[in-house]
Amino acid sequence: MKITLIYPAVGRKEGKSYVKAWQMQPLSMAVLASLMPPDVETCFYDDRMEAIPYDDSTDLVVISVETFTALRSYAIAAEFRQRGVTVVMGGYHATLIPEEVQEHADAIVIGDAEPVWSQLLADARSGRLKPVYDGRGRRELGNVRPDRRIFAGRPYQNITLVEYARGCNFKCDFCSITAVHGAAQNHRPARDVAEEMEQTGSQRFFIVDDNIVSQPGKARELCRELQPLNISWVGQASIHVANDDDLLAAMVASGCRGVLIGMESINAANLKAMGKDWNTAHATYEASLRQFRKHGLAVYGTFVFGYDEDDWAVIKQSVDFAREHQLFLAAFNHLVPFPGTPLYRRLLAEGRLLQEKWWLEPSGRVGDVVFNPKKMTPAELEAGCLWARREFYGWSSIFGRLFDREANASSATMLGVYLGLNLGSHFDIDLRQGLQLGLAPNHQVKRHGKVRVHARHGG
Ligand code: SF4
Repeated sequence: MKITLIYPAVGRKEGKSYVKAWQMQPLSMAVLASLMPPDVETCFYDDRMEAIPYDDSTDLVVISVETFTALRSYAIAAEFRQRGVTVVMGGYHATLIPEEVQEHADAIVIGDAEPVWSQLLADARSGRLKPVYDGRGRRELGNVRPDRRIFAGRPYQNITLVEYARGCNFKCDFCSITAVHGAAQNHRPARDVAEEMEQTGSQRFFIVDDNIVSQPGKARELCRELQPLNISWVGQASIHVANDDDLLAAMVASGCRGVLIGMESINAANLKAMGKDWNTAHATYEASLRQFRKHGLAVYGTFVFGYDEDDWAVIKQSVDFAREHQLFLAAFNHLVPFPGTPLYRRLLAEGRLLQEKWWLEPSGRVGDVVFNPKKMTPAELEAGCLWARREFYGWSSIFGRLFDREANASSATMLGVYLGLNLGSHFDIDLRQGLQLGLAPNHQVKRHGKVRVHARHGG
């Protein structure tokens, strides 16, 4: 049996090549590859960096679908199904809105693949695929070792992705993670994670967990296992960890160099509306940031604009705040109503969505605001986010944040990483803005001495 795994692209700008910056290994594909029995031949194509050979023979195609890649995923699925190939779809979008994804696939996986994969393969072999395989539920993730051999030869970023847990115990109203995992978190055994990290031979890791400190006891377990490895890692954490000196110290001792913190808003009413007022319930942002700095941790702060109190003043204050507090990196994005989230249902009920299924609009672009904000127009909000990125990654801001000896420039290595990431962000601000959703990448593929170009419009 031959199975083809596909990780789809978002889209590209008309007349331009696909954006190549910041491409990390899609870990979920390596997890799937590791679930294949020895008699299955597994092929993998990363649509972001190579052409998909639709005419190669394969028994089953598996596509991981995110909301932003839905249009492109459906176009890829249609190509294979036209050729009589069976298509299975999974990923976040399949869990968020299964009835839509089902229209484009022979079978879908809702939730995690691991609990249902062997049954799905058995059914595929016997030609009796069921329409839906449901892998949701509380359980230990078990000792799945991602098969990273599928990534060989591709120019991914030089950082190894690893997973300890899926989900998060909080319930922020915009968050698709909670919509998928139901405000719960499933872990792997910490010892297995450490063993896997050691086996990769890498020294630099991104632990991709949605919130690594959602369960502080579990975070401590992991830190204990990682401490002897002498590695560096970064991860995503909720800000309440700032109140836990012991855990911060354990994280640093285990190699943590920086944390991505969802600060979201400096406006208290916005935080309340998104169900994240706990962000400042036990300490102000200023006090929490002092804590991270005290431990030498770099902070990547993420902000979201578009809640009902947001206007130009809030956007400007947020950028001032991020500069004043010398954040290592910052993201300024507009609110995205992902299907299946409370935010989506609320905006739909209030008649504020510009398109009900905005992710399927062939004219849709990355950066489009797809709802009516209260105090700004969609165009103003889009412009506000771009302005914020240009300010934060402007020369004077990069230079001004450089002299933070506690975190950003705490060592020559940190200084190098700071400069590399901030300069990269400076030059990449406009790269993704305006990517047309579903527009197929125009990679060239060489076969039998000829050059073929795949350049179709998705959807
Ligand atoms: S803390 Fe982060 S990951 Fe958890 S629900 Fe809120 S936004 Fe999602």
